[in-house]
Amino acid sequence: MFMTEKETMPVIEMAGVNKWFGDFHVLKDIDLEVRTGERVVICGPSGSGKSTVVRCINRLEAHQSGRIAVDGIELTDDNVSVEAIRAEVGMVFQQFNLFPHLTVLENLTLGPVKARGLSRAAATERAMRYLERVRIPEQAHKRPGQLSGGQQQRVAIARSLCMEPKIMLFDEPTSALDPEMIAEVLEVMTGLAEEGMTMIVVTHEMGFARRVADRMVFMDAGEIVETGPPAAFFAAPKSARCRDFLDRIL
Ligand code: ADP
Ligand code: MG
Repeated sequence: MFMTEKETMPVIEMAGVNKWFGDFHVLKDIDLEVRTGERVVICGPSGSGKSTVVRCINRLEAHQSGRIAVDGIELTDDNVSVEAIRAEVGMVFQQFNLFPHLTVLENLTLGPVKARGLSRAAATERAMRYLERVRIPEQAHKRPGQLSGGQQQRVAIARSLCMEPKIMLFDEPTSALDPEMIAEVLEVMTGLAEEGMTMIVVTHEMGFARRVADRMVFMDAGEIVETGPPAAFFAAPKSARCRDFLDRIL
């Protein structure tokens, strides 16, 4: 298959991005480009700025200098660009953020009906298709509280997919899960990657990273310290900070 020019262009571009929380310099000159279909895994110690990077990409946080563009849309303060970007970027959090008082199906149809103007029938059809994809169609009429953590996270992924995003951001999607539920969520994410979804995943699941990542990014103290293909990254990290980190978690 030939790639169009658009597909070879970076779909996420961060160039010289800086952000402060008050006096605290949380992101320092972040440069990160992600191409269509690319899978990037970000790791690094707690507090290094990983969540802030992904939150800046869909404008849950605003950066103060540098440039962020998503699918060619420049991220500025105007509401139009923020809405345009949120329409293209799905996000899955550590905490599943499902509406507890709605059924699984209602959680999935809400966005497509309210934000995309789909009919209820079309939204339901779409929701069931994505529930099949995360392999829990039989849970459609339960409330989130009746599901296991792994099932709830799969619902959260399906809910994002119902908005048909071009890019999926995952921020430690398995960190709140019991060990026996981590695999089922990683399996769904691996399937998405195999289907060509553009993904940024913040995770410390290094087995998943080795299998799925095209590129690893290591952050420490607000900086991207090291980046590279997983084979080289794991076999021979260049920086002492990255080596120390990997020694601690592997
Ligand atoms: P990570 O995801 O790598 O653990 P974060 O991006 O969540 O790191 O946070 C980076 C740093 O910024 C941490 O020191 C955190 O305490 C701080 N921080 C995060 N969000 C805020 C906020 N809203 N206000 C002030 N400080 C924050
Ligand atoms: Mg975080």
